[in-house]
Amino acid sequence: MPKPIPGELTFVAPRGAKPPRHLADLTAAERREAVAELGEKPFRADQLSRQYFSRLSAGPDEWTDIPAASRAKLGEALLPELMSVVRNVSCDDDATRKTLWKLFDGVLVESVLMRYPDRVTMCISSQAGCGMNCPFCATGQAGLTRNLSTGEIVEQIAAGMRSIKNGEFGSDGSGEAGAVRLSNVVFMGMGEPLANYKRVIAAIRRLTDPAPGGFGLSQRGITVSTVGLVPAINRLADEEMSVRLAVSLHAPDDELRDTLVPVNTRWRVAEVLDAAWAYAERSGRRISIEYALIKDINDQAWRADLLGRLLKNHRAHVNLIPLNPTPGSKWTASRPEDEREFVRQLKLHGVPVTVRDTRGQEIDGACGQLAAAG
Ligand code: SAH
Repeated sequence: MPKPIPGELTFVAPRGAKPPRHLADLTAAERREAVAELGEKPFRADQLSRQYFSRLSAGPDEWTDIPAASRAKLGEALLPELMSVVRNVSCDDDATRKTLWKLFDGVLVESVLMRYPDRVTMCISSQAGCGMNCPFCATGQAGLTRNLSTGEIVEQIAAGMRSIKNGEFGSDGSGEAGAVRLSNVVFMGMGEPLANYKRVIAAIRRLTDPAPGGFGLSQRGITVSTVGLVPAINRLADEEMSVRLAVSLHAPDDELRDTLVPVNTRWRVAEVLDAAWAYAERSGRRISIEYALIKDINDQAWRADLLGRLLKNHRAHVNLIPLNPTPGSKWTASRPEDEREFVRQLKLHGVPVTVRDTRGQEIDGACGQLAAAG
């Protein structure tokens, strides 16, 4: 993939071979149809769903409720292997684990599991690469390879849940099953989720549909992060879901944002924020405003003040992200005193603000560092 030229945007992913069809691509009705087409009783679809979504089964050998003769056929047709682990790397005392996946066509993507005292969060990818070309983000600098299928998105979560179940990650030492549960999912890995809209929405449905049709996660535990694709934000509001929306703002003024988040040349700061407030209204959820603090670029007190003016009296929370280093980038994280002043300015406007931890930085697993090199 050639490096994109600065400012260039890619909205439509290149077409290639399609990933194999998977149970998680399909709605409950479609699953029954697919099973019937294989000459099996439609209720086998529900059994398969239970195996995949509820039991987190590893494969046909475990499907003792399905006749042996049907297992291989159903498995091959509806639960093909979508991805294999190239490697896992951990840091933060094993509380952060990044997985590099190889997809059916050799394309690489990454996901990150993060354990906190009270929860496990998984950061997943929605595209291989990204077409949004933000100059401070390693994924953006790699260009867009392709969209992930719904199955490929969901399978990242399924794999994370299986790891926890097997005690490979997130065991709290008590030996008790389910002591830590994957409860939060953030679409903050590789890709622009709203540029792969249909598949991302279908994936959210699979994650949140009640078991055994889906994983039964709470919509409130899911965050979709976007560079600010306004029409897609409006569409998301129409879905009437209560997932959290995060907006990667990074600058309060169009002049600077044009250079940091190139899609700003299409939809300006004011338009993005208007769409975000409308989303907050519909979903009942506060908007997360993501702001990577870049030394001497976007971290001035006057920009913090301007940001505070834009956000005050709206349902927003600012997440400041100390810039994580990426290859070839000329930028670095802000000085501590500038970060403190930035926080202070926002607080003067009554805007809630937190500074995000730099989880995963030493394994290139932190925000903006996912580049999936083999
Ligand atoms: N494309 C979506 C989803 C990716 S989320 C989006 O941009 O929102 C990844 C988050 O990390 C985004 O907020 C992104 O702007 C931020 N990010 C990218 N590169 C970063 C870096 N080098 N340091 C800190 N945050 C970064």
